[in-house]
Amino acid sequence: MPETPSSRYDVIILGVGPAGLQAAIHAARKKARVLLSGRATASNLYRAHIENYAFVQGVKAGEELLATGRDQALGFGAEILEEDVIKTEQTPEGEFLVTTESGRVFHGITILFATGVKRQGLGLARERELLGHGVSYCVDCDANFYRGATVVVTGDGSAAVHGALTLSKIASSVSLVSKDLDVGPALREELDTSKVVLHQGRTIARILGAERVEGVMLDDGTELHADGLFIERGAKGAVELASFLGVALDPENFTHILTDRSGATNIPGIYAAGDICGPPYQMAKAVGEGCVAGLSASTYALRRKRERTPAP
Ligand SMILES: Cc1cc2nc3c(=O)[nH]c(=O)nc-3n(C[C@H](O)[C@H](O)[C@H](O)COP(=O)(O)OP(=O)(O)OC[C@H]3O[C@@H](n4cnc5c(N)ncnc54)[C@H](O)[C@@H]3O)c2cc1C
Repeated sequence: MPETPSSRYDVIILGVGPAGLQAAIHAARKKARVLLSGRATASNLYRAHIENYAFVQGVKAGEELLATGRDQALGFGAEILEEDVIKTEQTPEGEFLVTTESGRVFHGITILFATGVKRQGLGLARERELLGHGVSYCVDCDANFYRGATVVVTGDGSAAVHGALTLSKIASSVSLVSKDLDVGPALREELDTSKVVLHQGRTIARILGAERVEGVMLDDGTELHADGLFIERGAKGAVELASFLGVALDPENFTHILTDRSGATNIPGIYAAGDICGPPYQMAKAVGEGCVAGLSASTYALRRKRERTPAP
């Protein structure tokens, strides 16, 4: 597809969650030409209710916060395209071409990945419907809603054990359901000496309750009463588009993009921010990283433009 001048940007940001929006605000305010692509409804914040973000009183709907961020980004001159990017390429000059779902191609001096992560669910009936009604994928986010309650945590790794231990200080009773627990000896000892009840070798077969979680049934038929079910099975970033460009990922699981403190990856001109850079998966971290990466990407792009403009 031939390029038109309107398809050239200084910074192309993949993702319109808190990281992408904050990056756009900071980049656009530096007078960089910014394109954001992605869908607000696909942001992890969209269905969240936030009460741990400084300066925002009470519990605020994520959908509302995203709408405010979008208006701010547009107000500072960023453009938004509600489409996913399906292909990324590097030009011989070390700049970038991104192709979106509708087949449009955009040229960016820099690109910034703010594509978030997908939590690994259990794939059980009504699991997604009950998200926010007793089902949670994030102990750090939702533990406080379960003060004095009975909760079940499921997962096999350290995230699940840390989650269960955190909840054991808040909830009245915590069960950990694990098919194949795989944690180091120190964490295992901490678990064994805590009040967490371990159901080892078991999986969750059903979530009980109609309007909200009332319990779970295990694969051996055991029913556990619970006000909340925390699914802590890890998360995976949408890293394929980045790894295709040679961007370095975390060497342990290859699920997150590695950046330095400026939000830069190992490939000049490629930046990343937010959940895609790893835990904690929190809005405050996404916003902070978005600010830094947005400033870095726009500085790089504007400098590159100045350098190639012939002197008068
Ligand atoms: C139920 C729930 C409750 C939560 N509660 C809290 C809480 O209380 N406090 C807190 O701080 N955090 C909470 N979080 C976490 C918080 O929502 C995330 O940390 C935050 O949204 C991460 O921001 P992000 O911009 O990195 O990614 P996201 O907000 O997930 O945004 C990712 C964006 O990338 C886009 N995208 C993906 N692939 C592509 C592609 N190929 N091309 C273009 N765009 C793409 C998506 O469309 C989306 O716009 C909660 C999350 C959930 C799910």
